[in-house]
Amino acid sequence: MTGIEEVRKILRDLGIEEELLHDDARLRTDLALDSVDLTQLQVELADRFATRVDLWTEHDYTLRQLADTVGERLPGAGVSGEYRDRGWWRPEFLDDLVLSTRVHAGHRAALVGGDRAFTRAELEAAVSGCAARLAHTGVRPGENVLVQLPNQVQIVVLVLALIRLGACPVLALPALREHELRPVLTALAPTALAVPARHQRFEHLRLAEKLRERHPSVRTLLVSGITGPAGGRVSIDDLVQAADPAPADPAPAHAVRCPSDTALFLLSSGTTGAPKPIARTHEALGHVIRTSAAVSGLTPESVFLAVLPVTHGFAFSSPGILGTLACGGKVVLAAPDDVAVAMALIERERVTHCALTPALARQWLMARATPSGRDLSSLQVLQIGGARLDESTAVQLAGAFDCRIQQVYGMSEGLLNFTRLDDSPDVAFTTQGRPSSPGDETLVVDHEGRRVTDGEIGELLVRGPGVITAYHGDVAVASFTADGFYRTGDLVRRHPSGNFVVAGRLKDVINRGGEKIPADELEALVLAHPGVRAAAAVAMPHRVLGEVVCLYVVGGDEGAPPLREIRKYLEDSGLARFKLPERLVEVPALPLTAVGKTDKARLREDISARLEAEG
Ligand code: AMP
Repeated sequence: MTGIEEVRKILRDLGIEEELLHDDARLRTDLALDSVDLTQLQVELADRFATRVDLWTEHDYTLRQLADTVGERLPGAGVSGEYRDRGWWRPEFLDDLVLSTRVHAGHRAALVGGDRAFTRAELEAAVSGCAARLAHTGVRPGENVLVQLPNQVQIVVLVLALIRLGACPVLALPALREHELRPVLTALAPTALAVPARHQRFEHLRLAEKLRERHPSVRTLLVSGITGPAGGRVSIDDLVQAADPAPADPAPAHAVRCPSDTALFLLSSGTTGAPKPIARTHEALGHVIRTSAAVSGLTPESVFLAVLPVTHGFAFSSPGILGTLACGGKVVLAAPDDVAVAMALIERERVTHCALTPALARQWLMARATPSGRDLSSLQVLQIGGARLDESTAVQLAGAFDCRIQQVYGMSEGLLNFTRLDDSPDVAFTTQGRPSSPGDETLVVDHEGRRVTDGEIGELLVRGPGVITAYHGDVAVASFTADGFYRTGDLVRRHPSGNFVVAGRLKDVINRGGEKIPADELEALVLAHPGVRAAAAVAMPHRVLGEVVCLYVVGGDEGAPPLREIRKYLEDSGLARFKLPERLVEVPALPLTAVGKTDKARLREDISARLEAEG
């Protein structure tokens, strides 16, 4: 049992809820009701850990801090002190880091989206007002709130307001559906869901109502695109821009926050099964934001165009929206699917930085091939990440947009590699960069965990001030080594420049234009179809998206169901649309490896050969 589990068990034995630990007000109230016996907890901890800890101080503990204090032996926990000593972790809160008007003048433009624009002072005021109104709707510090909103200014204000309040936003892609969301709701028990009423022809509100029925933790629906409150629904537009003066500041919430608290949750794109919650603390995410902003060349003059979904770490905090705001720059929001609008915004807002996936970058290239007369000369840096960028696309992009191409190879778990803006074009076009954090330790290892010689291919492991050492709830412990390194599941080799080149992956995931599809999740659902005896999902090359899903199926007596039926079946099962297979190949049996596993390498070769034969 890890230290954190031991503390958790003690709490359980004493009947103390974990959340009470970092909620001063609730803790004291409950004490008055005599439901938490701090002295008994102190005695138990001293006994179990042979350490004295004074719980009757001003300090409000989270579970992790408590485990740290009593001699926590969690992998990687011992280095926290070093991260703080070296200034990598600072005593700061994300909302203050991002919104400060002490460092950057309040009259400067901060956020633009649709027909709305905020200066820094207005954004700061909107966030404080929204935090206060959220408190009035009953959202309390320490609670989780699932946020599944598209790229509109409301999401930026809402997320920062939740953080200011001491509640934890859980950022979920708008593309996720019931199948992906339900395990997240089970794991994090959010008290509110923030959704658009309808987005891209999907009725989010209807799904949110269904989820609320099934998950009793959910009290409130925060909805954009509706007017006025009704039936436990609160209009996000009212929260963000109500004309009335904001109710009193939620000061008590502010007072109990601690920089090592979870500021927000990201969701892992998942190597297996459901997305796993990733808790990001103020101090660790602050480090990620500062270091990634520095290598991206962000300054107060920078203008960042967010076209990738804001609820993904790449656009949100790598350095993205939060990094740009922290540097005093301006953020412009646009939908991912409209290249023409993006080009118009670059011209109008004098955009300097933009983050794209290779798939989106290819669409931008195609659009650029037709002269539009747009002046894109402000563009300085195109950051490309989420999937491997090929050299030819990189060269074409640099030419067509006359700007620097910066490759970003990162993951929600916290490692971010960037090519540097002064890397030679050769290095910038052919490698996926090196860590932005000076504190990251990286290892390239073989299948037995031994370091490979430089230049050879192996799995990348990483430990550092921005990288998590466990998933929330300590699930998928095999993703971490005993000494706290995160196993990326990616195969890389070190380039002579010191940068990494991504050479493949160990994890069984299909990377569809930057959106990840765990093969086992898809296969399990397909197998539940009565007409399917066996199924295997593999990546099939695609000209624009890089990879899409090809499904190999062994059918029942009637033969395999057609692709259309399988797609409908999966969608009806609540699976996100981007995970639906693009092609189905019926086979009499799946090929097996010597140890009896499905031979996916052979299936990938097979589909490539079929595509080639089809020309
Ligand atoms: P996510 O957590 O959704 O950002 O996905 C992280 C994963 O995406 C990484 O572990 C890689 O497998 C993949 N990935 C991200 N960026 C790149 C890149 N520049 N080149 C190749 N793969 C990448």
